[in-house]
Amino acid sequence: MLNFTVGPVMSSADTLAVAGESTPYFRTPEFSATMLENERLMLSFLNAPENSRCVFLTSSGTGAMESSVMNILNKDDKVIVINGGSFGQRFVELCALHGLCYDELKCEFGTQVDEARLEEFSGKGYTALLVNMHETSSGVLYDMDMISSFCKRNGIMLIIDAISAFLSDELDMQKLGAAAVITGSQKALAVQPGISVVALAPEALERVDKNEEVCLYLSLKQALKNMERGQTPFTPAVTILLQINQRLRQIEKDGGAEAERGRIASLARYFRERITDYPFEFVNNCSSNTVTALYTKTADASDIVRILKDEYGIWLCPNGGALASKMFRVGHIGNLTTADYDKLFEAFDDLIARKIM
Ligand SMILES: *Cc1c(COP(=O)(O)O)cnc(C)c1O
Repeated sequence: MLNFTVGPVMSSADTLAVAGESTPYFRTPEFSATMLENERLMLSFLNAPENSRCVFLTSSGTGAMESSVMNILNKDDKVIVINGGSFGQRFVELCALHGLCYDELKCEFGTQVDEARLEEFSGKGYTALLVNMHETSSGVLYDMDMISSFCKRNGIMLIIDAISAFLSDELDMQKLGAAAVITGSQKALAVQPGISVVALAPEALERVDKNEEVCLYLSLKQALKNMERGQTPFTPAVTILLQINQRLRQIEKDGGAEAERGRIASLARYFRERITDYPFEFVNNCSSNTVTALYTKTADASDIVRILKDEYGIWLCPNGGALASKMFRVGHIGNLTTADYDKLFEAFDDLIARKIM
């Protein structure tokens, strides 16, 4: 199997070795030390401000999105949600479900946030902004410097879903003035799904502390209290946390988050330079390093995805709904090399020879 989806992605042999071990008991000083090291490395890779904290929830990424909406925000907030695809829509649904006062800035699929339209939200009493730094469904990387500058000028708290941007694109909590950053285990961390991560700057920590408890399992107050000693309130996905530790340590050894970002960016470049010879069209002109989204010109996208999977053992990332026949995405995260992309190009050549596309 050659997996070019955007998560779960392929893991390294070192990660798989950790995944293959029996799960140890976790109420131990050893596991606590591992967790505190995970927190330290996450905060360091995010360049989080002093006195930030980081917690690990046993849930998929959406759990951390919901936890952040429930624990950092409250009914007195007035929230802006950037909505340019299925993950922006998820934040909208979470705000609606939890009874928050919110307005959407809808972006046309595959387009950048429009600065003039964002500016229309200035001076209207908004208190928080929710954004998926990389809208994975369209591959658009939002202009975070622009969004951050808008938030700073208006005193608006910035909460970033960086689930598919962490380690792929530049993400500096101090520079952006981010109150909270969310990520997950199965994207560029390239370990199994099941753990989501929330890094909280003092601004968000204060909010969590003051807000009333509205949930139990996803309570950040409980998670933060337990994490003071490197523990979790409930049995966590222990093995995944150990895989995260192996990955974070390896990344640190290999030069840190910047080096990992460089590695992913060079895979994206390698793919994008060559794919222009094939009958596809880029979905956007503001791509993350994480994934390349492509419209097909000569074939149904879902046929390409299916044939590559069934006949070549190559997995591309399909889109859902009405877009399924028009586009697919090719990821650049996980344990991939340029040789893997060469195999994909060979398969594309074969599909052309077979007149499938
Ligand atoms: C993958 C992803 C999520 C979370 O998805 P889960 O299936 O809940 O892990 C959220 N936001 C973005 C931008 C993502 O790419």
